[in-house]
Amino acid sequence: MTINPETIRRGTQPVDFINAESLLSEEEREARDRVRAFVDREVIPAAAEYWDQAQFPFDLLPGLAETGVIGGSFGEEYGCGGWSEVAYGLGIAEVARGSGSLSTFLHVQSGLAMAAINALGSEDQKQKWLPPMARCEKIGCFGLTEPDAGSDPGALSTTAVEKDGGYVLNGEKKWIGNGSFADVAVIWARTEDNKISCFLVEGDNPGYDAQVLPRKGSQRAAWQTHITLKDCHLPAEAHLPEAKGLGSTLSVLTHSRYGVAWDGLGQAADCYETALSYAKEREQFGQPIASFQLVQAKLVRMVNEISLSQLLSIHIGRMKEAGNLDPATVSMCKMNNVAKAREIAALARDVLGGNGILLDYRVMEHMADIEGVYSYEGTNDVNTLIVGQAITGHRAFSPRPPKNPEPEKDGHAERAEERAE
Ligand SMILES: Cc1cc2nc3c(=O)[nH]c(=O)nc-3n(C[C@H](O)[C@H](O)[C@H](O)COP(=O)(O)OP(=O)(O)OC[C@H]3O[C@@H](n4cnc5c(N)ncnc54)[C@H](O)[C@@H]3O)c2cc1C
Repeated sequence: MTINPETIRRGTQPVDFINAESLLSEEEREARDRVRAFVDREVIPAAAEYWDQAQFPFDLLPGLAETGVIGGSFGEEYGCGGWSEVAYGLGIAEVARGSGSLSTFLHVQSGLAMAAINALGSEDQKQKWLPPMARCEKIGCFGLTEPDAGSDPGALSTTAVEKDGGYVLNGEKKWIGNGSFADVAVIWARTEDNKISCFLVEGDNPGYDAQVLPRKGSQRAAWQTHITLKDCHLPAEAHLPEAKGLGSTLSVLTHSRYGVAWDGLGQAADCYETALSYAKEREQFGQPIASFQLVQAKLVRMVNEISLSQLLSIHIGRMKEAGNLDPATVSMCKMNNVAKAREIAALARDVLGGNGILLDYRVMEHMADIEGVYSYEGTNDVNTLIVGQAITGHRAFSPRPPKNPEPEKDGHAERAEERAE
């Protein structure tokens, strides 16, 4: 019997073995269900084709914005949802369930670009950018990583030199999501006093160029770019006034990392639901494969890890709402959820047998997309070191002191001490 990949999820309830639903408010369920309805209706039927063709799903952006998830937890005074942090996380998980690439777009737009403007911008900058970005009428990107500065953002070498009452930026950024169609690029650069600061570069600036990175095997429906900034002239008001060193960068990353933790949960849930549904339908040796002990062991391993990720995610969401979330705790949650999602996707792929490698069943797409998530927002190793430092007091990022020690270079130490916003 052939199992139709389009009907495989029908009749499968969203995974909730431990009744995590009981930990949510009515408003949180409503927000999640709004995103879920959009994902079921518009994202799931279209996502595999966008991914296969490595096309960005521009058509899905208005619907995504209508759900309210973009900037979901930012203030209503900026045209955003004012959702609880848990509701925002639940929304991200739903988007990730439908497409790991679309959720990466969401992290860049909302978790990074909007978050930087919201946390570090002036009132004018917030009023100008946040409402249209929440509606997806304006798109943002976030340029921190450089060809030679990845896990160590304190080594970035893009420069911002004061000139004619404004700034001139020069440098390169790599891996920047949305860069080729961004209306505004949030760019991190080193100023003449050797401090790291942040600037808003509009996409039509003649000194700004962004080329899409081709031939990716992960995150195919999200576009990352190589940005070149060549004598990029900016007015004084392009500077984000509250961007004061690498600590500011890391506080934005803490917010985004929180969202990425929920991403892992959403992609893992979709893999598990597909595997469970498939195992109930697929028969071998005269029985559904779900009746075999080895298959059950795989499904149980998946639901066990998903349940633990659900509890951890809701808990850190509540801590974030209460304003007492430590960055190391966020690192642990991102590290756990994404590493577990990686294992769960591989188990689900196995449960689907040969069909598991067909894109139509979507598990392979998640499996590939999770590889990108495993490396961004702090690689698994970097988040491990952040937690390691928090529990031991020893900073293990570098076996030797940096060649030119300066307070800002020790960003991860600074980060461990910082409280999340
Ligand atoms: C899909 C995708 C989207 C992205 N989007 C953006 C974006 O929008 N904006 C942006 O600014 N950046 C973005 N990035 C960049 C991302 O943040 C970096 O890839 C990440 O920080 C890792 O840097 P790197 O790739 O240079 O790897 P490296 O830092 O070179 O790391 C390579 C390996 O070395 C390990 N390693 C590094 N340092 C240590 C250490 N001290 N101890 C032990 N192991 C270590 C790492 O864990 C990893 O395994 C994106 C990346 C990807 C893949």
